[in-house]
Amino acid sequence: ATGPDLFGDSRRNSAGFDLFDTTELARIEAARDIDLPDRAEPLIAGPVQGGARHDAHNPASGAVIGKVVLASAKDVETALAAAKPWSAPVAKRAETLRRAADLYEDHFGEIFALLAREAGKSLPDAVGELREAVDFLRYYAAQAERLENPARGVFTCISPWNFPLAIFTGQIAAALAAGNGVLAKPAETTPLIACFAVRLLHKAGVPASALQLLPGEGRVVGRALTSDPRVQGVAFTGSTATARMIQGAMAGTMAPGAPLIAETGGLNAMIVDSTALPEQAVRDVVASAFQSAGQRCSALRCLYVQEDIEPAFRKMLIGAMEELSLGDPWALDTDIGPVITAAARDEINAYIGAAREQGRVLHALNEPGRGSFVAPTLIKVTGIADLEREVFGPVLHLATFKAGEVNQVIADVNATGYGLTFGLHTRIDTRVQEVADQVHAGNIYVNRNQIGAIVGSQPFGGEGLSGTGPKAGGPHYLPRFTRAAVDTVED
Ligand code: GLU
Repeated sequence: ATGPDLFGDSRRNSAGFDLFDTTELARIEAARDIDLPDRAEPLIAGPVQGGARHDAHNPASGAVIGKVVLASAKDVETALAAAKPWSAPVAKRAETLRRAADLYEDHFGEIFALLAREAGKSLPDAVGELREAVDFLRYYAAQAERLENPARGVFTCISPWNFPLAIFTGQIAAALAAGNGVLAKPAETTPLIACFAVRLLHKAGVPASALQLLPGEGRVVGRALTSDPRVQGVAFTGSTATARMIQGAMAGTMAPGAPLIAETGGLNAMIVDSTALPEQAVRDVVASAFQSAGQRCSALRCLYVQEDIEPAFRKMLIGAMEELSLGDPWALDTDIGPVITAAARDEINAYIGAAREQGRVLHALNEPGRGSFVAPTLIKVTGIADLEREVFGPVLHLATFKAGEVNQVIADVNATGYGLTFGLHTRIDTRVQEVADQVHAGNIYVNRNQIGAIVGSQPFGGEGLSGTGPKAGGPHYLPRFTRAAVDTVED
């Protein structure tokens, strides 16, 4: 089947890897013992001073996997002084980004190994993440070729650890495709993968002055890069609270029109009504809530099941949870890997512990007992208003609603102020449109899971507390990285 030529050059989304194909699996298996890139450091267009140093750890085992040199305040200044827009013609930029996409695919072994060992990604998640990263590179390259607007200048890109390759690359690719320079600050917990990716982008031909990497802490590197008039815009994915801080910092220092493109948190709900196909709905609930150990901002947090089917549905859901296996992210039979750090594990477990004391835990799996794992857990709530905050882990809340209460459920979901993803399982056709018309969410998924948006066909992003838009991987994203086209008037 041929779809629209979203990627230009007759290319479409990356084919990825078929984990059911033994030849492909053997190629991946051979990468298990690969020599991991084990050093992250500032990659700037000038001499590196280097600040604090620390070890990088594997969240599943706690083992040391590399060394990290953080950027010092002086390194940040060197980078800011050297930063330049990427002045090459658009055809050259697009070609370079496509070459980078090919290099990413060639280096799948290092990338999967790093994603597993530094970020705890399961193999299917790592395959999905590499695909998304190369899709961003090719998609924005194609979009840039259709856009006439000039670049803004230099962008700061601040990315999260939960998609340390895909979102990291997506922000950078958009800024570069449009002709900007980039100062990238990767998440504090995933600098190895960021450093490896930037080396590939440089190898593809992105100039050193157009793409600089500054690993470091938010309060040093992040603060400096979001409060400097030499920066013309910021792309950020992370918490709503941090987005607010960035907005404040930018307001005091940058030009009034400097854009903040922020993708932030979510309190995402799904409705399963009594007409839903239960097996399908259970499968999609489990994927939405627990895949990636629940560490997606798109993940399902509060499931509403219609009251009359809830007892049977809950039983099936608990049965499906029992089938999930936690363990080494690289093992093929692992469904769920670790959460990102021991501190994250402790925080999520404290939340679960408080719910347990209140007698609200309906079901929890056993933990492996070592490493930063959190057991998938189901917690009873009366509604989404009981969720005080986004708990970024494999924790699902379950509520019920009565026939005739769908509008009330949607009103409660909208009242959270977030608006990222929403799921609906129903076989009532008119209900789909009714819900879509009322719910405030960037992405609504019907009769499927609610994670894993696909670049080019499912632009991803939210509204309200969930982000500024425009959506990543969609046609409106790139123009935000540019200035308005110039109108020349002659007499
Ligand atoms: N784009 C991802 C998805 O659709 C989520 C991104 C995020 O967690 O920040 O699942």
